Order: sequence, then structure tokens, then C-alpha cells
Amino acid sequence: MSSSQPEAKVDVLIIGAGASAAAFAWSIADTRMNVLCLEQGDWTRPSEYPSTTMNWESDNASNSNPNYRRNAADYPINCDGSPIAVANYNGVGGGTVLFAGHFPRFHPSDFRVRSLDGLADDWPVDYHLLSPF
Ligand SMILES: Cc1cc2nc3c(=O)[nH]c(=O)nc-3n(C[C@H](O)[C@H](O)[C@H](O)COP(=O)(O)OP(=O)(O)OC[C@H]3O[C@@H](n4cnc5c(N)ncnc54)[C@H](O)[C@@H]3O)c2cc1C
Repeated sequence: MSSSQPEAKVDVLIIGAGASAAAFAWSIADTRMNVLCLEQGDWTRPSEYPSTTMNWESDNASNSNPNYRRNAADYPINCDGSPIAVANYNGVGGGTVLFAGHFPRFHPSDFRVRSLDGLADDWPVDYHLLSPF
């Protein structure tokens, strides 16, 4: 920004424009706060989503693993210690650009995987608190 332009005041800075960033930005859109969302990747028009091409399944642009896809905004991710390969998209919309449209319903036990299964962490909220939403 040049010194002749007024500096905009930012109240909330959101890094990344994926699913959770968009939901959070939307949730505070009615406040009077100035919200700035910075995304390292580019915009993708829905008509140009990787999955709309004929060869999307074999086309590397649709590959959900950035280590193979290597788009300009991708960065290498070390999955050596992980039992699953990384799947993401780096651009406005984040992973939702490659989203499969599958909406599994949570179970109360999904919020307590540390206590019940010794995996990951328990959520700080439980199923019953979220179910009205
Ligand atoms: C192929 C595929 C299919 C899927 N299908 C489903 C489905 O059917 N059902 C379902 O529930 N979920 C599905 N998911 C998962 C879902 O898309 C993700 O859980 C969700 O997008 C995660 O949201 P997020 O905001 O945590 O992260 P992301 O959506 O990954 O967003 C993170 C964003 O931050 C950006 N970013 C990262 N670092 C920086 C930085 N330093 N500076 C600026 N920007 C940065 C990234 O570029 C990215 O855009 C799918 C995911 C993939 C990859």
C-alpha cells in the first residue's frame, strides 16, 4: 500500500479461505468488524473445478494429494508417519473444491475418541450441544 492511500484497519485476520475459514467469516459478517481473509491459492470458478473435465480422475490437477498434484499453491507434505495420505486443495474454498458431497452424521461417540478409543483428542463440546444446529 502506498503512503498516499489511507490504511485500512483490520479487526480480524483469517489465514486461509477453506471451509472453516468461510464459515467463521460468514458468522461474523453482520458485525461491524473489518475482516480480512488471506488465501495462498487462487480463485477457482465452479465451472472450472478440476472435476468438471472429462479426464478428471486421471488428470493430475484433480489429484487430492498435493505431493503429486504440485499446483502452484501446493506445498510438499511429509506423510511418512501417517497411515493415510494427505488430501487437500490449496485455493479459495480449500478442500471443498474437491469435496465429494458426502455428509456423514456424527455419533455421540465421535466427540470422545480419545476417551473411548485412545485416538486423537476429545472435542471440547459434545454431540448434544451441537445437534440443534
Ligand atoms: C478430495 C476430497 C473430498 C472430500 N470430500 C468430503 C466429503 O464428501 N464430505 C466431507 O465431509 N468432507 C470431505 N472432504 C474434507 C473437507 O473438504 C475438509 O474436511 C475441509 O475442507 C477442511 O476444511 P478446513 O477449513 O479445515 O481446511 P481446508 O479446506 O483445507 O482450507 C485450508 C485453506 O488454507 C489455505 N492455507 C494453508 N496455509 C496457508 C497460509 N500459510 N497462508 C494462506 N493460506 C493458507 C489453504 O490453501 C486452504 O485453502 C473432502 C476433501 C477432499 C480433499
